Amino acid sequence: MIASDALKGKLIVVAEHNEVSAQKIISSLRTKGFSNICLAITGEQVYDALKPYSEEPDTVGLIVLNSALPQCRSEEMCRNLSSVTATAVVPVVILTDDSYLCDTSACQSRQDDCLTYNINTPVNVQELLLAINFLLSLKQERQLRHRQEERLINELAAKNVIDAKLKFLVAHDELTGLFNRSSFERQLRLILNHSNKTQKDGSLLFIDVDRFSLINELEGFEVGDRLLVELAILVRKLVPTGCLFARVGADEFCLFLENKTKKQAQVLAEIIKNTVDNFRFFTGEVCYSASVSIGIATLENSLSTIHPGEMILHARQACNFAKSTGRDKVCIYNSEDVNVKARRRDIYWLPLIRKALRDNSLFLVFQPVVQLSDGNVSHYEVLVRMRGENQTIITPDQFIPVAERTGLIHAIDLWVVANAIDFLAALPSYMAHISLAINLSSAAFQYPDLLSTIRDKLDATWLDASRLTFEITETAAVDNFEKTRHMIDKIRTLGCKFALDDFGAGFCSFNYLKTFPVDYVKIDGQFIKNLLSNETDQILVRSMVEIASKLGKKTIAEFVESAGTALKLKEIGVNFGQGYAFGKPEQNLLEGHSITLGNLLVADEPACLIN
Ligand code: C2E
Ligand code: CA
Ligand code: CA
Repeated sequence: MIASDALKGKLIVVAEHNEVSAQKIISSLRTKGFSNICLAITGEQVYDALKPYSEEPDTVGLIVLNSALPQCRSEEMCRNLSSVTATAVVPVVILTDDSYLCDTSACQSRQDDCLTYNINTPVNVQELLLAINFLLSLKQERQLRHRQEERLINELAAKNVIDAKLKFLVAHDELTGLFNRSSFERQLRLILNHSNKTQKDGSLLFIDVDRFSLINELEGFEVGDRLLVELAILVRKLVPTGCLFARVGADEFCLFLENKTKKQAQVLAEIIKNTVDNFRFFTGEVCYSASVSIGIATLENSLSTIHPGEMILHARQACNFAKSTGRDKVCIYNSEDVNVKARRRDIYWLPLIRKALRDNSLFLVFQPVVQLSDGNVSHYEVLVRMRGENQTIITPDQFIPVAERTGLIHAIDLWVVANAIDFLAALPSYMAHISLAINLSSAAFQYPDLLSTIRDKLDATWLDASRLTFEITETAAVDNFEKTRHMIDKIRTLGCKFALDDFGAGFCSFNYLKTFPVDYVKIDGQFIKNLLSNETDQILVRSMVEIASKLGKKTIAEFVESAGTALKLKEIGVNFGQGYAFGKPEQNLLEGHSITLGNLLVADEPACLIN
């Protein structure tokens, strides 16, 4: 019988004012093994008996209640007792002399939440036990149903949350919570389809965090991640609500501005750029500043329908243009800039470069590199120039990129190498200590004749190979890493030295520095130009020096334009300086270049030097 188990240890209240009936009920319950039985002969006594259990209604197992109990509104009491909570319902067997109620009792019990069952008085013990059994199994079934419903609800809730989370993760970037690249492209496609049809305006901003890889490498990924999150929050606040804003690469963000003209987009981009400029990022005791380069592509003037990938590419190209022309800038995409202009330049310059190589109208200039400890010239960097019409001098930024695009750079590299060696060999013997640093393009390493040119020239001139250092840029070094490395090893075995140029400007990986066989690291000029006023630059330069010196490499700072900067660099521990403060590139070697500043460097009296 279920009853004995379900009522084990629980309170049974027999609310029966008829003494004979009460005794009969109690003794029949006792014979069934129930012990915790309490008799109440008024409504009040029922409440008194139940009061101690009010906090734990489930400990009351059953009530047998005479509907005619004095001081008791039995119906109300039943409602109160048998609907405490969904699971803690107290079954009530009602003793009544109304036979109609008894016929409908079971149905009632099922319909409402009350667990009651009516039986006729005088009580038939057998009927009472059946009623108790029925109510208890009903209660059990109801509890089971409740538990299942609850579990189902919980499962559904959890599933919905997981579904929602999955949906969110598929569409969003986990770190910043912004849209990710694929969902950005998907949504942009919908917008562009619409805009192409309705000829609406729209602008896309491609935002790239300047020098992010450096912060990541120096401070670790956790700090890098935090910087990205803070920047995302910062930019988000500046963006109109409902805008499509996404993180599309490690440190790259895309923002689409619907119905915004080129002018409006430019204004917002400038606001974003300026806000990031003023933003300060703290990690421990160090305070970094950050900057962004922004490229803008617009639907204006796009005659044909534009694909999202194409629009992102245009904005990225404009951003690259901003980066290559100094960073911390906003640039608008202009197809003229990227393709047509470049081709026009190539067509213009190509015959001029060929002619210059043929006619020997290239020439070399030399810029001193100064030892910061004593101000003495350590060596000179060789820079190429081209003679133009009417005695004009053409600087390499005008023709080197063309030469690189068209493959002529290799011929220039070989010309510079040969002429620099000839120049050294022709120096009088009292200048035999002078050495040169020669720039090489990445193309130089792809041809075997570089090695033979150097070797043949050194053999022919009897020049000491240690008087030559070759400068190679970081990006060139990373391009075709193995082949370049192999060639560098061979040239080094001749006795020449190597410098990693423009360090920190491009790809920047300290891992490469670790494995790259160079003697010098040339810290890119952009870190040096504003060194005195920019704390972040100081921190970065300090870290680069620390790492380079740990790897046994000497550091050179470019773009040293003031005495103050030179002194700061000396204090930081940079080994060499190069820049207008020591001397501009000149055709003649003037050993006196750095004398004035050299004295100051030795004097170690910075007080009088303000820029
Ligand atoms: P680079 O190797 O980083 O050379 C440094 C450039 O910075 C030189 O420009 C130099 O004149 C300039 N510079 C030096 N001191 C300062 C300073 O204090 N402030 C500022 N603002 N600029 C300074 P240049 O001679 O116009 O050369 C530009 C680039 O052209 C070089 O950058 C190098 O990448 C390339 N280049 C120059 N000569 C050669 C060459 O013979 N072969 C190859 N492959 N590339 C060369
Ligand atoms: Ca250089
Ligand atoms: Ca450089």
